[in-house]
Amino acid sequence: MARLGTNTKVNRLLLVSNRLPITLIPGADGPAIERSTGGLATALSSVHGDGRSLWFGWPGPAGNDLTPEFTALLAEQHTVPVEISAAEVKAYYEGFSNGVLWPLCHYLLDKVRLDAHEDWEAYRLVNERFAERIAREWKPGDAVWVHDYQLALVPALLRQRCPEARIGFFLHVPFPAPEIFRILPWRTEVLRGILGADVVGFHTAQYAFHFAYACSQLLGLELAGDVLRDDGRPVRVAAFPIGIDAEAFATRAASEEVQRRAAELRAGIPERTLLVAVDRLDYTKGLPRRLLALERLLTQRPELRDKLHFIQLAVPTRENVDAYADYRRTVNELVSRVNGRFGTPTRNVVHLLHRSVDPVELSALYVAADVMLVTPLRDGMNLVAKEYAASRIDDSGVLVLSEFAGAATELHEALHVNPYDLDALASAILRAIEMPGDERALRMAGLRRSVHGGSVHRWARSFVTSLEESPIPPAIAPTRALEEAAQALRDAEPLVAFLDYDGTLVDFSTSPRTATPDRELLRVLERLAKRATVHVVSGRSRESLEDFFGSLPIGLHAEHGLWSRKTPHSPWTARLPVPPTWLAPLREVFEGIVRRTDGAFLEEKSGALAFHYRSTEPQLAQRRLGELRLALAAHPASSEFDVLPGARVLEVRQRGIHKGVVVPEVLAALPSAAVIAIGDDLTDEALFGALPERAVAVRVGRGQSIARFRVPGVREVRALLASLTETT
Ligand code: UDP
Repeated sequence: MARLGTNTKVNRLLLVSNRLPITLIPGADGPAIERSTGGLATALSSVHGDGRSLWFGWPGPAGNDLTPEFTALLAEQHTVPVEISAAEVKAYYEGFSNGVLWPLCHYLLDKVRLDAHEDWEAYRLVNERFAERIAREWKPGDAVWVHDYQLALVPALLRQRCPEARIGFFLHVPFPAPEIFRILPWRTEVLRGILGADVVGFHTAQYAFHFAYACSQLLGLELAGDVLRDDGRPVRVAAFPIGIDAEAFATRAASEEVQRRAAELRAGIPERTLLVAVDRLDYTKGLPRRLLALERLLTQRPELRDKLHFIQLAVPTRENVDAYADYRRTVNELVSRVNGRFGTPTRNVVHLLHRSVDPVELSALYVAADVMLVTPLRDGMNLVAKEYAASRIDDSGVLVLSEFAGAATELHEALHVNPYDLDALASAILRAIEMPGDERALRMAGLRRSVHGGSVHRWARSFVTSLEESPIPPAIAPTRALEEAAQALRDAEPLVAFLDYDGTLVDFSTSPRTATPDRELLRVLERLAKRATVHVVSGRSRESLEDFFGSLPIGLHAEHGLWSRKTPHSPWTARLPVPPTWLAPLREVFEGIVRRTDGAFLEEKSGALAFHYRSTEPQLAQRRLGELRLALAAHPASSEFDVLPGARVLEVRQRGIHKGVVVPEVLAALPSAAVIAIGDDLTDEALFGALPERAVAVRVGRGQSIARFRVPGVREVRALLASLTETT
């Protein structure tokens, strides 16, 4: 039965993919539709079709010129068309999706078109169109599930339009190792696009790890468990391996029609071992290396030439992309070469079928094949491998499986092989041919168990459940309530403002030294200081704050409140003795670790030490953090300092010092003042916690907070402060 997940927190499910699962066919007798039987359509059938879902996508060329009949047909199928013009298909789909992202994700770097700037523009535009269409339809309570690399920007584009939407993204291709991914000129945009989602799914844990690692390396985000925090908003990154409808394949394999067809096939090649491969004719599928390995095997074991028959079904695909035409030529040449060398006047060893076949014929191939060769150079999952296993209902047959297919992480009983190693590939084929019957049966029984265990319906439901369980992101657009609070502050007298610096008044920058205040900020603060008592409360040193704001008539509080300078001419005073006795011995510990950690540096303040690791390789950083934490916990003075994790920094500072200590001191002189406080990270929560009930606390970004109000970023903070100085 079609239903959504396991609970009812979600109203409707909005599914999104490049292609709709139906194609519109104009015909002389009126319009018709053709249903896709492809992997995604089957996979989502359990969550689409009960009237509680809508599917967005391109319905083929006829979708660009919709007649009322087509519109009605689409609505009946619970689908929403997104039009993509012929020129856009060329640029967005063939050019960027299949000419850049596809080869990159499959590690085929020589095929990646790195100068595809115009195609990138089209990609962005079509992604925006999808986001726009979905946003028009989205209602609170709806969850959105976006599919695959053609639509990687949609999650973030949709998040801009519907900040409170639950959004999931699933990548059906591999996410490459970060060192490969970072080659992409548009890498940041693509990562940022995907990060708009609440749940990001992959077929294997390795792809999920690669993605998290790339976000860490390129964007400085940190992974805790399986959650990345993007501006405080949690993004769950996890593996959801897709399955197949194994029951359906088993039933079809047992059918009389398939059994008859398989017997006919076998009768045509008596006494021979039948090897079969089924792939789209895609350069990721490794056809040439498979043929080369067969050639090598037949060279080494010439007696096998009369004992083998190899059927390669090569389904036509993406024929408008240049790389595919070249590939087809290469495959044809190799087939001719192998047949030329090893065929006889009446028989070829390799039989290449360049077409697709119907489900019965496909199942007959699966049932007839003694050995199935699934040896892609790289493949997100590979369903053929699973379909073959599900079709071997008598536990016969051997699956040779590339270790670079996602399916290899689940199908342990297959003969795993490295398709780049021709000798290994040739040996694996030989081993499969010669495998004793009891070993075949044992292995196949294991494979069948595993494909029946992870059904396709479970896949869709577990993703949707995970999406339902993700927290609804807090809205961060300035609200009417904040406007009203600001209005009240504008007329209040006296007014006190406590302001954090980095991430609140200025944007973060990779080097703290470059995050200096600009003219606009100085003007805003100068004007504010004329009508309010302004205090900047920061983790920075006295010198930095003095340097930035020395000339302004405002209070400055450095090192999270350890030091204060209440007016421009008063001296800096410390709340606790500095330097603390533990500082010098701990400095040695920090220095020892920094020396062994590429990209890390030590920041020393008068009462604190900070280990910065923003530019350090994430795994190394984690190891060193572990060491540092152990050393700190074991230190004899550990009761005198606090250890505070921050954004890619670990800081040690005197116990009892936090931003909140500033508040009572300042307000003692102005007990009934109106108060506003603005901050963007954990250290500001101590400031918010020390405020009187009446204060207006504003958190920048989406992180957890006790503040009553939120704004998205620095620009809005400045606008808010400027609005306090407007005269009514
Ligand atoms: N397939 C098909 N028609 C054919 C041959 C294969 O529809 O003539 C199907 C096959 O059953 C499988 C899919 O194509 O479900 C191929 O999926 P796979 O994950 O192996 O590779 P992809 O083509 O998605 O890269």
